[in-house]
Amino acid sequence: MYIGRFAPTPSGPLHFGSIVTAIASYLDAKSHQGKWLVKIDDIDRPRVLKGAENSILNSLELLGLEWDEKPSHQSERIEFYQYYLEALKENGHLYLCSCSRKTIHALGKSGLDGIIYNGACRNMGHTDSMKNAYRVQVNNSPLVIEDLIQGKIKQNLANDIGDFIIKRSDQIFAYQFAVVVDNYLDKLTHLCRGNDLINSLPRQRYLHQLLGFKLPICLHIPAATKQQKKLSKGHGDKISIQGNETALWVEALKFLGQPILPEYAASNIKEIIPDAIKKWSINHIPKSTSIEVDAHIHT
Ligand code: GLU
Repeated sequence: MYIGRFAPTPSGPLHFGSIVTAIASYLDAKSHQGKWLVKIDDIDRPRVLKGAENSILNSLELLGLEWDEKPSHQSERIEFYQYYLEALKENGHLYLCSCSRKTIHALGKSGLDGIIYNGACRNMGHTDSMKNAYRVQVNNSPLVIEDLIQGKIKQNLANDIGDFIIKRSDQIFAYQFAVVVDNYLDKLTHLCRGNDLINSLPRQRYLHQLLGFKLPICLHIPAATKQQKKLSKGHGDKISIQGNETALWVEALKFLGQPILPEYAASNIKEIIPDAIKKWSINHIPKSTSIEVDAHIHT
């Protein structure tokens, strides 16, 4: 059975880009008679904003996006993350790293996602896991992943990314690792999310392999931009949802290249949603990330 999800970080209210992701993942799941889960990515406590989770869930409800199971929380899965970290450790994939941000910047060269760590701590044999970060060793075999929307994604982790962190020195599990364990715990079959995360996919695929988990089928939809900048929950890209539900659905469907009937404008979302599920086709979704969001839906 198809299992998909929407995984917002509760760092602020939903912006248009996250609404598009929620709608795309919902429509893809429902057009396959699948389940649609909501997972709250609240592992990075410093980024969590009080009230944001309620605001996000409330917005999803207003938009008619009904989840099929009680929303899950990363903050309630810490012992699972620890368990799988131990598994990687036992198999010799991890090492502790004491390098400061400053050292990393001074020694490494720029990669696809920040500085490529130069592996200085690989053979240091650090033992204090309460003060140091855990990194996973990568290799330089080329990774090729087929994304249903973006096509072939190629990366060489050693050359493009470097050994990456799976648990930070502040004891917070890194997103790259937590999401892989979540995919497994949720029995996810499809991973539909914004294209701003495409660079992370090879790292996640690598961790899936190391842990013996199957990578879900991936669909990375274009990320919405405003004046060529990525929208962000934390940066005031706020929109008002209440009263704008129909307009938002129409804008999101347009953004996703889906057919829009003229009668949508005067309909309510209860009429639009079943029709959008019926007509949903990923073949119409553009790859491009440069589509601009109409300014009028921003407050
Ligand atoms: N929590 C991430 C966000 O809100 C999404 C992570 C994911 O879909 O894997 O952007």
